[in-house]
Amino acid sequence: MSPGLYREHGTWVEAPSLQRHDARVALTFHVPSHPGSTGEAVSRRMRALKRRDNDGELSVRRLLHAAGYRYRVHYPVPDRPRRTIDVAFTRAKVAVFIDGCFWHGCPEHGTAPTSNGAWWAAKLAANQARDADTTVALRCQGWHVIRAWEHEEPAEVGARVIECLRRLALGHESLNGA
Ligand SMILES: [Zn+2]
Repeated sequence: MSPGLYREHGTWVEAPSLQRHDARVALTFHVPSHPGSTGEAVSRRMRALKRRDNDGELSVRRLLHAAGYRYRVHYPVPDRPRRTIDVAFTRAKVAVFIDGCFWHGCPEHGTAPTSNGAWWAAKLAANQARDADTTVALRCQGWHVIRAWEHEEPAEVGARVIECLRRLALGHESLNGA
């Protein structure tokens, strides 16, 4: 496998250029506040989307906990201030992200709102660029990164995580993201 390739949501993709690791470049992921963010309708929508985001993550966490695994939640990403790993196995260095379909641009459900379309497009593109940067930054530091969509069956996501942890415990060399 070429070191420039890594697995993202089941497909092999080219790793973003190392330039992304420059802290100054990382700053460009910031998008100004929503132009209508003072409106109650927008805040309500954002709150609802955030909540849904947490549900998939909660289900996977419950499942892993029930299977006897212990982990840290919202664990800080090294060298990336304000970013966190949804579910982190710090000893095995396994980082699990349950990406919300809306905020992370799921190809099946990630439609951008039509009102303030340009702002939303910039916002969601910045989120995806930030996700890719987080994945590469962690892999450069020896972490195994598993990204799942919130729409995926929690049992399947949990099984993927457990398989990865077991393989690492057995001391097998693992492909990133597998
Ligand atoms: Zn989805």
